[in-house]
Amino acid sequence: MVLQWYPGHMNKAKNQVQDRLKQVDIVLEIVDARLPFSSRNPVLEDIIGQKKHIIILNKSDLADPQRTKEWKLSFQQEGLAVIDLDAKHTNALGKINSAIRRELSEKIAKYENNGVKNYQIKAMCVGIPNVGKSTILNKMVGKNVAVTGNKPGVTKNQNWLKTSVGIDLLDTPGILWPKIDDNRVGLKLALSGAIKDQIFAPDDVAIFALSFLESFYLDSLLTVYNIEPNDLRNKTTPDILMFLTNKFGYKDDYDRAARKIINDVRKLKFGPVTFDVPGEFYEE
Ligand code: GDP
Repeated sequence: MVLQWYPGHMNKAKNQVQDRLKQVDIVLEIVDARLPFSSRNPVLEDIIGQKKHIIILNKSDLADPQRTKEWKLSFQQEGLAVIDLDAKHTNALGKINSAIRRELSEKIAKYENNGVKNYQIKAMCVGIPNVGKSTILNKMVGKNVAVTGNKPGVTKNQNWLKTSVGIDLLDTPGILWPKIDDNRVGLKLALSGAIKDQIFAPDDVAIFALSFLESFYLDSLLTVYNIEPNDLRNKTTPDILMFLTNKFGYKDDYDRAARKIINDVRKLKFGPVTFDVPGEFYEE
């Protein structure tokens, strides 16, 4: 199944981001560290153009640390600035401030040479829903602020939020959609909880999860469900779902087993898992 997004809304959101872009020195593109490819909006780079830009791999506490390293390297090789972040549990302000100052060092130096001592940096967050934009804004501002317009396509008055480090932030994050023209992207977003559970059938998501775990996190899969490599041999992934349904004692309630598997992934039963593998989307 391929999801259709409404091009009208998409354009409206794009125009809004473009408008706000003019007011800032730098864009913080927030992505989910578990989905560094699938949670990016592919048109964002076109919208951003020459504007300075940092990719923030947020929710790094939920992602596979080895994969996060690989993804950082892959972005750096493309010439993009990138940091990883756990905005929920750590000091987002310090880390983002350092990254912003690194990226804007030339501009800041220019101002300093012209006698402007404390150039007030202006930044905005953009990203698809649920990647942590509000959490990051709140952490940077140091209090709970009402993040306005946190809905695609809604125009609201925007304000500047002050931080303690000389950076002003737009209180209205730019919301963009993921581009789900690849079924894998949709299934991964569903598995991570980024898109609503009603959009994909649980068995499709669970079958995707099982095949992904079997390929990349086999030891965890075997340990968590107390199964042997032999149990998987000569079985298609739907067969494995049936086998596990039985093993869980759910008779033939495959949906219940599917929901359990999805929840187990989300609850990190298999450890931190990254669903995008560097390089996988570039072969076709
Ligand atoms: P937004 O839609 O982009 O504004 O996303 P939110 O800031 O509302 O965050 C979505 C969910 O992700 C919330 O439940 C946050 O608590 C959670 N979240 C945000 N950042 C992190 C993080 O770094 N680690 C973890 N584990 N959860 C996070």
